[in-house]
Amino acid sequence: MTDPRDGLDRTKLLAARYRAAHDRPYLASALYALGIVASSAVPTMGVDRHWRCYVSPAFVDATPVEELAGVWIHEVAHLLRDHHGRAGRLPAADQRDHYRVNVAQDCEINDDLLADRLRLPAGRVEPRLYGLPDGQLFEQYLPALPPHVREHDCGSGAHGTPAPWELPQAGGPDGVGEAEAQALRRHTAEAMRAHVRSRGPLPGGWQRWAEQVLEPTVDWRQALTGAVREAAAWAGGAVDYTYRRPSRRTPALRGVVLPSLRRPLPRVAVVVDTSGSMGDAELAAALTEITGVLREVGVRGNRVTVLACDADVHAVSRVTSAEQVTLGGGGGTDMRVGIDAALASPDRPSIVIVLTDGLTPWPAETPSCRLIAALIGDGAPEPPHWVERCASRRRRTNRPRRAAARSARPAS
Ligand SMILES: [Zn+2]
Repeated sequence: MTDPRDGLDRTKLLAARYRAAHDRPYLASALYALGIVASSAVPTMGVDRHWRCYVSPAFVDATPVEELAGVWIHEVAHLLRDHHGRAGRLPAADQRDHYRVNVAQDCEINDDLLADRLRLPAGRVEPRLYGLPDGQLFEQYLPALPPHVREHDCGSGAHGTPAPWELPQAGGPDGVGEAEAQALRRHTAEAMRAHVRSRGPLPGGWQRWAEQVLEPTVDWRQALTGAVREAAAWAGGAVDYTYRRPSRRTPALRGVVLPSLRRPLPRVAVVVDTSGSMGDAELAAALTEITGVLREVGVRGNRVTVLACDADVHAVSRVTSAEQVTLGGGGGTDMRVGIDAALASPDRPSIVIVLTDGLTPWPAETPSCRLIAALIGDGAPEPPHWVERCASRRRRTNRPRRAAARSARPAS
C-alpha cells in the first residue's frame, strides 16, 4: 500500500524487513533499529552513519520482497561491521575515493549473503566480478580493485562520506548513537554465537565478525600506541594537576608549591609464555617485544608488570627494562592463569598483553581490560581462530581490528 505523502509502499518494505528478521533472527534487533526515510533522490537503498535507512519508493515498487529482504540485510551489514568507522581509519588517499571504498565494502558483505543463499537484485557487487576471492575484508579488497570503480552509493553508513540524499543529523527520524550501535553489535554477535551453537555454522565472514566483536584482539603496538595517545591527549587537556612534583617555577614563589602536570600512563601487564613449547628463540623474541612495550609507554617508574607463566605463574617482575625480567617455568601452557593473576594485582592493569606461541587456551569471555595477543615466532602454529592473519601486517595505521595481532617482529 503506497503512502500518499511520499509514494513509498511501506507495507511491502516492512514485509521485506519482517522476512529478513524472521529468516535471520540474529539480525532482528539491528534491522528493527533502523529508521526509515523515503527519498526519491536515493537510487535504491542506503544508510547514514546514524542508522537511518534511505529508501527509493520506485526501487521498492520494482523489487520483489525476497530481494528487498536481502537488501535490508546488506544495508544493516554496513552498520554492524562498522564500515564507516573502519573507512575513517584508511590512509587519506584511500578515503578520498569513497565510491571505490563502497565497492570493496559491498564485496565484503555480499559474498557472505550469497553464501547464505539470500537473493539480491541483479547488478549486485561481488568479489568474483573483479577476479577476487571470497572471504576477505574490505581493506584487503580495496587495493586489488581497478581504479575508479563505481557502483552503488550505500551512504555515509558505509564509506563515511555523506551522500547528497542524506538528512542533517538533527533532521528526520532519531538515529542510533555510537554507544547504542556498539550494544547492537555485541547483541547481534551474541545471537549469532547462540545460533551457531544450536543451528550450525554461519557464512565465514559473519562468523569471524561475531567472534571478533566478542573476543577482540588487536595488534599490540597499535593498541598500545592508541592507549598512550589517549592518555597523553587527556593530560594535554591540562585536567589533571598534581602536587606530587613541584613545577620549575616553584623557586620563584617561595613557600608556594605550584601544581605540575602529571602525565597519566596506562598500566600495562605483560604475560610471557614460558611453557616448554616456547624455545629460546621465542623467549628472546618475547623479550624484544617487552623492550618495545617499555619504550612505547615511555616508562617512568615501575609501570610494567611482567608475569612469566606456563600453567602457573612463576615470576612476577616490575620492570623498567628487559634485562630486569625474570623468566621461569617450562611446563604446560595456560595463559589464562597469567591473565587472571595480572588482573588480581592491586595495581590493576588496563592493558594485558600476552606473548605466546599460541599453544594455549584463552579466556572464554573478554576480560574487563584490553587483552592483546602477540603471537611469537614465524613458524608458530595457527593463531587462535579469532586471530586472523593479515597480509599487510606491517601497515599499522589502517589495520582493521578484526585482522590482528600476529607480531613476531622485534620492535625496532
Ligand atoms: Zn552496500
